[in-house]
Amino acid sequence: NNCGGQVWFFHSLQHVTPAVANGREGGPVSVSSPRASSNMATPLTDQEKRKQISIRGIVGVENVAELKKGFNRHLHFTLVKDRNVATPRDYYFALAHTVRDHLVGRWIRTQQFYYETDPKRVYYLSLEFYMGRALQNTMVNLGLQNACDEAIYQLGLDMEDLEDMEEDAGLGNGGLGRLAACFLDSMATLGLAAYGYGIRYEYGIFNQRIKDGWQVEEADDWLRHGNPWEKARPEYMLPVHFYGRVEETEEGSKWVDTQVVLAMPFDTPIPGYMNNTVNTMRLWSARAPNDFNLRDFNVGDYIQAVLDRNLAENISRVLYPNDNFFEGKELRLKQEYFVVAATLQDVIRRFKTSKRNCSGPLSFDSFPDKVAIQLNDTHPAMAIPELMRIFVDIEKLDWDTAWDITKRTFAYTNHTVLPEALERWPVRLLETLLPRHLQIIYQINQIHLDVMSLFPGDLDRMRKMSLVEEYGEKKVNMAHLCIVGSHAVNGVAEIHSNIIKTDVFRDFSELEPEKFQNKTNGITPRRWLLLCNPGLADLIAEAIGEEYVKDLMQLQKLNELVDDDAFIRDISKVKQDNKLKFAQYLEREYQVKINPASVFDVHVKRIHEYKRQLLNCLHVITMYNRIRAKPTAPFVPRTVIIGGKAAPGYHMAKMIIKLITSVADVINNDPIVGNKLKVIYLENYRVTLAEKVIPATDLSEQISTAGTEASGTGNMKFMLNGALTIGTLDGANVEMAEEAGQENLFIFGMTVEEVAAMDQEGYDAMQYYKSIPELKQVIDQIKSGFFSPKQPELFHDITNMLFNHDRFKVFADYESYVKCQEKVSALYEDPKKWTQMVIKNIAAAGKFSSDRTIAEYATQIWGVEPTDLKIPPPSEPREAIEETARALRKI
Ligand SMILES: *Cc1c(COP(=O)(O)O)cnc(C)c1O
Repeated sequence: NNCGGQVWFFHSLQHVTPAVANGREGGPVSVSSPRASSNMATPLTDQEKRKQISIRGIVGVENVAELKKGFNRHLHFTLVKDRNVATPRDYYFALAHTVRDHLVGRWIRTQQFYYETDPKRVYYLSLEFYMGRALQNTMVNLGLQNACDEAIYQLGLDMEDLEDMEEDAGLGNGGLGRLAACFLDSMATLGLAAYGYGIRYEYGIFNQRIKDGWQVEEADDWLRHGNPWEKARPEYMLPVHFYGRVEETEEGSKWVDTQVVLAMPFDTPIPGYMNNTVNTMRLWSARAPNDFNLRDFNVGDYIQAVLDRNLAENISRVLYPNDNFFEGKELRLKQEYFVVAATLQDVIRRFKTSKRNCSGPLSFDSFPDKVAIQLNDTHPAMAIPELMRIFVDIEKLDWDTAWDITKRTFAYTNHTVLPEALERWPVRLLETLLPRHLQIIYQINQIHLDVMSLFPGDLDRMRKMSLVEEYGEKKVNMAHLCIVGSHAVNGVAEIHSNIIKTDVFRDFSELEPEKFQNKTNGITPRRWLLLCNPGLADLIAEAIGEEYVKDLMQLQKLNELVDDDAFIRDISKVKQDNKLKFAQYLEREYQVKINPASVFDVHVKRIHEYKRQLLNCLHVITMYNRIRAKPTAPFVPRTVIIGGKAAPGYHMAKMIIKLITSVADVINNDPIVGNKLKVIYLENYRVTLAEKVIPATDLSEQISTAGTEASGTGNMKFMLNGALTIGTLDGANVEMAEEAGQENLFIFGMTVEEVAAMDQEGYDAMQYYKSIPELKQVIDQIKSGFFSPKQPELFHDITNMLFNHDRFKVFADYESYVKCQEKVSALYEDPKKWTQMVIKNIAAAGKFSSDRTIAEYATQIWGVEPTDLKIPPPSEPREAIEETARALRKI
């Protein structure tokens, strides 16, 4: 290859260790299992071994024996199989149950501990929890990973084969759902008495297949083989009401003649990292009552009534597959109210039965001191009128008291400024489905607008700030409802929080500036480093100790090693090993061969115009044209990997996928290209695939139009895993550049201010097309059918959009992007400098731990304190819990 330059190490395959063969029964008891970190070219001294293993738990002989016993017991009693007939899935379930057994005592004790100490509870309400797999995460957080690896090795099985039998819990679309999952991990790790509340979708995000270059959706039947991580709690089933009418009585408003659906809770344990805390994620599943449809109009048609139970149970059937897009469907509104109504009943029951409220008279005055509810976007916004309904109609509080408590209880996180994503529910829908809530929303609005009349004569401002929009069909603006009904409103990165304050919600922030905050997103270093990149995690632990896992700012210590040749070599070797492993995975699963010495240039996230996969595609074609123009000129080899799901109803996103796969077809089959350039469409991007591709990435693509990506979290995962970023000054990229130094990222393109100025002047795509010859060539090729010879007009919707109504200004950033990509290639030719820049990025990634994010939510919004207190493990007597509780109360 031409990647030449100084070849003193790196980019060559000479360091690659052969794949370790599967173990057999009776293998050695030392650290011998295949997952042991990959940077072990030479045998380790005992001291090195001890250093290396403790980060993933101790491999005691008794531990391993105990785990093997548990595994065999579950294979026999739970799976009812012997080793002759057991399938890989049986082995996965046997191990899952064995690991789960280690959670149970801690889970029960944590909940006992919360009862004894009665701390303020934090409720994270979200329509999405994008959890991915649980097995390895549980092993990591319980410190069981090394012992399990060894046990499975001694049983003659392959751990990765077992792990790959687990279905992802894909109950999310992208960043918003994955953020909720990272937050649960951090809340448990920081010892907060926290609960995740959501919906147990029977079908999560669809599985994506690529057929003839097009996206095809398949249903995600993730529960088919059973879910060992959940516990159904039918005894805590709760009713949720829909439809009906409001009756005004002497005792106040009554919501009557409703249809009832039951909400059945399923609990999933959320282990903290090595602290014996196990919190709960409670997901609701819709069940028809047993008398459903048998009382009224359907009397006599028993069979039909039973068949109609599906109608009620459809509420929790399927996750809506839209990312950053609002689709005003009735079933979705039912989902939103379903989770809210069930959750608030649970919250209030727990408040009423808490130790102090059981003795003494009940008062809700202390409710905001005992309960914090965080709304993950406006999706659970109906919680605000629902809590008001409970307080006013059922608990008989007066309106002002109820409103004061409600506002002090809720906080709202905004996740996007894209207008098409903001929820605005038609009044007509609310009127039939939730008539009492609509009344309450009108009453909230009236009082809110009365306050507004403090700005006399400013009718326009009042119209803009109303909860009810009156242009065209009447709609309730859910973001406005959330802002008015919360004591805190936050954006998810500095730049986004500023846009909220000065632009989208400007009038609100002028009215109540103290409400508005920033909480820059983060990711959990357990899943996104320890679990997915053991080689790097161990190398860092060897260099700076293990404490960084719980205190990610300690990564800064790596700055002392940027000039350490041995460390530089080790870092680049870990990356090279990860790249080779990923290349082997692609070859095994998809029969595609890639060049492991090339730049792995990765763009994975939901397919959306604002994320500008098209800009990347134009660059790919530009590189191709340059190779064809000068086939013998030096070229730094690249593998461009693009992946992500398009919402099934999003035409343009689906066309973008087809364009990328068509371009890939042409480039990958052109002999002139050789191994200089390859384009891979990564099918079915999801949490588990992110864990595989991110550690193997050299270059992370974060190229949204400035001002459109609220934060991004993919950007942080790549940074932590030793990729360099090419990106715009958008979302958290801005803070990444601040932390690492702008010179250590590849920043290009317009700033938010420049985008705004261009919107003022008017964006003229044609001008760029005419003045940039390479851009003209690329667009002409797409337009003329160069990549779709059988259907020359296939991509006209794309080219028309780019010329005539491109809201995201792809052409305006093209030139700056291509130039910046040239700098990337130039640096890659200097492997030492590249790796030094990687080290500086890893050293600067500490801010982006979700532990930091959650600590800020805890102290600045929820009014709770993180602790590093360790709940006494199940091996200690029950009294230890009360003792720890007493000690805690004294603090
Ligand atoms: C982190 C993550 C995302 C979010 O990625 P962005 O680049 O921030 O949009 C989406 N999907 C999956 C599977 C993820 O793990």
